[in-house]
Amino acid sequence: MAINEIQFQEGLSLAQFMKECGTEEQCEAALATARWGRGFKCPHCDHGAAYEFRRNGNRYWECKACRHQTSLRAGTIMEHGRLPLTTWYLAIYLMTQSKTNIAALALMRQLGISWKAAWLLKHKLMEVMVQREARYPLEGDVRIDDAYLGGERTGGGPGRGSSNKVAFVAAVEMREGRPQRVRFDPVNGFSFAALTPWGRTRDCARKLRHLRRLVGLRSTKETGLCAQDSDRSQGPGRDGNRAVPMA
Ligand SMILES: [Zn+2]
Repeated sequence: MAINEIQFQEGLSLAQFMKECGTEEQCEAALATARWGRGFKCPHCDHGAAYEFRRNGNRYWECKACRHQTSLRAGTIMEHGRLPLTTWYLAIYLMTQSKTNIAALALMRQLGISWKAAWLLKHKLMEVMVQREARYPLEGDVRIDDAYLGGERTGGGPGRGSSNKVAFVAAVEMREGRPQRVRFDPVNGFSFAALTPWGRTRDCARKLRHLRRLVGLRSTKETGLCAQDSDRSQGPGRDGNRAVPMA
């Protein structure tokens, strides 16, 4: 049987994760490095030096310039609530290692917390993941294609035009021939008019040209746009079409 390199690529095993982030002290150290690995920076005045102390077992920093006190969790999604850092870190591990969107119910069982706490934790993490993605748009060699999710309910008509399916633009950033990052954005369809708002939100005068090519491949009847010969020369993909380079 042929080995799929993607499926066999190295990841972070649960054993290794527990070795590195299994205790509150290890998670504290990891969070401190993530926040101030290049040196403390006062969130109030940007000063770079602070006194460090503990109060009720928690680490605090007091700015030497303005005396502002801050904790490791201050200004993060972990600031409020009493869940230990080990729970947050294990939740992050489970959510990022799961190929199939882990359910709040599964998080509840794995983390040993209430369903409500698991649901809140999951949605806070998803929110910051979305915010982070928005800050770092895909760059360089980006390929886009259409994608559809859903279709499990009966009715709604066949094929990609089914009202049961949600249409997405799938965009993949490639580096040295390998996929690096991917994003999926729901759209109202694949007409040029429907894709234009997506293009505008993604910094897109040049990308719109490629959207036009995508539309040309997908919806020539809807838009009157035609696929360029060079698009087809790279061979067909799913549905006889293929991803379109975007940058
Ligand atoms: Zn300060």
